[in-house]
Amino acid sequence: MFCVYFHLDQELVLPTIRSAVEKQLNLIALGKVDYHLVLEHTLDIFKRKFHYFVDSIAGMDELMEVSFSPLAATGKPLSRCGKCHRFMKYIQAKPSRLHCSHCDETYSLPQNGTIKLYKELRCPLDDFELVLWSSGSRGKSYPLCPYCYNNTPFRDMKKGTSFKQPLIRAAVRWLGCAGTADSYLPS
Ligand SMILES: [Zn+2]
Ligand SMILES: [Zn+2]
Repeated sequence: MFCVYFHLDQELVLPTIRSAVEKQLNLIALGKVDYHLVLEHTLDIFKRKFHYFVDSIAGMDELMEVSFSPLAATGKPLSRCGKCHRFMKYIQAKPSRLHCSHCDETYSLPQNGTIKLYKELRCPLDDFELVLWSSGSRGKSYPLCPYCYNNTPFRDMKKGTSFKQPLIRAAVRWLGCAGTADSYLPS
């Protein structure tokens, strides 16, 4: 950030302006210059600096992109959002999460494992596509709904509940996944 400002206008970062203003304030205090003239002059400098800054804002964006990438540009499309039905992006950098750039919503995920799309099955409650979390080392895995994981569908459920929960398992069966439900839900 500092470098970007420095690149655009060194005076915004260096103490030169501040010291110049302080000198002028001293002169005002000593009664050597007219307060209004100094004020006008200083305001004029900052006004011009501001306009220069606004004109250079595109350049600032480019400079920023070197260190920061926009959220939308990171991550790969993984599963579909239940609200807009567009692909959400899986951001792998910790804390890993799913981001729907259309709804501008972020859904946190269980950490310390890998996340994959789960058989393109959708959550019966909110239509979000399920994802499969698996831990590499112990080979544990379970499917979860990104939306339910962040917003508990039932009053008594804690945040971060997965499809391990009997109520969700029941809901999946109830909505017609019976037959496949037992084969994909962990016991
Ligand atoms: Zn969405
Ligand atoms: Zn859900």
